[in-house]
Amino acid sequence: MTDQWAGETGTVLVVDDDETVRQSLIDVLATAGIKGFGAGRRAEALAAQVQYEPSAVVVDYRLPDCSGIDLAKELKERDADVPVLLLTGYASLDTAVAAVGQLDAYLIKPVAPAAFLQTVRNALFRRALIIENRSLVERLQRLNAYQALYDPLTGLPNRALLDDRLTQALAGSRRTGSCLAVLFVDLDRFKVVNDLFGHHVGDQLLREMADRLSAARRRSDTVARFGGDEFVVVCPDVGTSGSACRIAEHLLAELARPAAVDGVEHRLTASIGITITSPGAQSSSPELLLRNADTAMYRAKEAGRADWELFDEAMRDRVVERFEVERGLRASIESGDLALAYQPFVDLKSGRVVGAEALMRWHRDGHGTILPVGFLPVAEESGLIAPMGRWAFDRALSELSAWERAGLVSEDFRLWLNVSPHQLADPSFGDEVDGLLRRYDVPSRMVGVEIVEDALRDVGATTKVLRQLREMGVSINLDDFGAGYSNLSWLQELPITGLKIDRRFVSSLDVAGDTRGPAIVQGLISLGHALGLSVVGEGIETAAQAEVLLSMGCELGQGYHFAYPGTARQLWSAPGAVEGRGEEDGSAVEAALAGES
Ligand code: C2E
Ligand code: MG
Ligand code: MG
Repeated sequence: MTDQWAGETGTVLVVDDDETVRQSLIDVLATAGIKGFGAGRRAEALAAQVQYEPSAVVVDYRLPDCSGIDLAKELKERDADVPVLLLTGYASLDTAVAAVGQLDAYLIKPVAPAAFLQTVRNALFRRALIIENRSLVERLQRLNAYQALYDPLTGLPNRALLDDRLTQALAGSRRTGSCLAVLFVDLDRFKVVNDLFGHHVGDQLLREMADRLSAARRRSDTVARFGGDEFVVVCPDVGTSGSACRIAEHLLAELARPAAVDGVEHRLTASIGITITSPGAQSSSPELLLRNADTAMYRAKEAGRADWELFDEAMRDRVVERFEVERGLRASIESGDLALAYQPFVDLKSGRVVGAEALMRWHRDGHGTILPVGFLPVAEESGLIAPMGRWAFDRALSELSAWERAGLVSEDFRLWLNVSPHQLADPSFGDEVDGLLRRYDVPSRMVGVEIVEDALRDVGATTKVLRQLREMGVSINLDDFGAGYSNLSWLQELPITGLKIDRRFVSSLDVAGDTRGPAIVQGLISLGHALGLSVVGEGIETAAQAEVLLSMGCELGQGYHFAYPGTARQLWSAPGAVEGRGEEDGSAVEAALAGES
């Protein structure tokens, strides 16, 4: 430390009206390589401060025209960092000590040269520290300002700066009457890269893609990182939508070039949504442009990725409709606009109803009854399927319990509920079902769930939930079997109890000349039986289909041939609904169904 202090130099102003003292102090400073200047009174001192900008000032306590303490104050007002050392005699020591808050040090006369030098050096060192510290703080502030506007990973403008640039570009378009294009770039399946190769590789690829976008842009364009694997390119002064699409083509080609990280070659693709303003960009805002470009990007993804899509009004209409559906659904859970339709499962041999599937319906305000195709995708995507599914289970089990109390259901009756991938991914799903079974006092053998193969893509999480359901005694059908991914290893791994043969195969059964369809159906039935599973033919529309299925050994069937999905009343008034249902049971049926209209 002392070595460092010893090295501290600078210029020092010595203010003392005694010429001899002044000069001897300047001489002592000179021995340490520190340059000294002298001043005899206040006015000279202030002038010297301006002229020499001293790094420290030594001031005598008694000056002819003011006190040293007052002068110290004045000097510091002009340069807050300048250390002021006070020279004082014994007599004035007390006063000097009292003023020490304003001074950096004091020295008692006569001053020993070594002590004087050390004190001056300490003061110079402290001053240097303060200045160094200040520049650090300033650098830090500049860095913060940078980080507020730029993405630290890629160095691209961030969302905040993008917003600003977009606003400016819009203003520019208005001035010049030109068109402004906004491109929303989203890397395809980037999550997979992160999951497979780790974030370190993911980050490097993001940087590489950012560099390529930057290099490909025109000088007036802005490339910003919007978030994760999303980038936005703002292109002012674009001639037509055709030119915007050509820019997108170019960017796609740049991004698609192989990129090597740690010796591994990656091939990424991107989907780009483009929106372009009318000339002069009258009715646009940054939010609207980003939203439209984002919508078009989603369209590009839906259409198969690795391509661009240009925003049009129809897209906006679809987005609005989707949004309306979501809002309507949200309200419907509470308002009682959801309903369940029941479609019987029939024993193909006897024609007896041995079960039913609950199918969700939405009585949408002003739109009539909507089938699942019209709302399930939105429900899935928005996560609303979770509360809707809970509602369906609650309603179905409470009805089942009423039917049972009324003696409507046979021993082997089972009510089937469709469960979406989203619901199965929730680890608490099994517990919820268990709670409802207890609440409505329904035996678990009377309940089954239908799952689709799509739900099995995340097999790990799903299997746990399915195992729990099986352990509880709930049956599990693999729905639409043969139509989805049909990974046969699932049949081996999953605790399912039955297969529902997809109706596409069933409908082939009475098509003249079709031999493959029936062969597949026969194969699926044999496969199911060999695995000890029950087999249901779904979508049976004709007597012929039912007969062929029966002849092939399929025991259960469902379809319009037997009954359309309907209300509980319709379910129980179907012919053969309950074996031997006599007149005396009629009142119980009515009572059980009384709550339903
Ligand atoms: P799914 O589970 O395969 O249900 C069978 C669908 O086929 C039903 O359509 C039913 O009305 C229809 N169907 C029945 N018999 C015939 C027939 O003979 N011919 C033809 N062409 N169709 C027949 P729906 O009710 O529109 O349901 C469609 C899908 O929506 C269901 O397919 C199921 O995957 C899903 N779904 C229905 N309700 C729910 C629910 O509460 N929760 C969940 N997660 N999904 C549900
Ligand atoms: Mg089903
Ligand atoms: Mg089905």
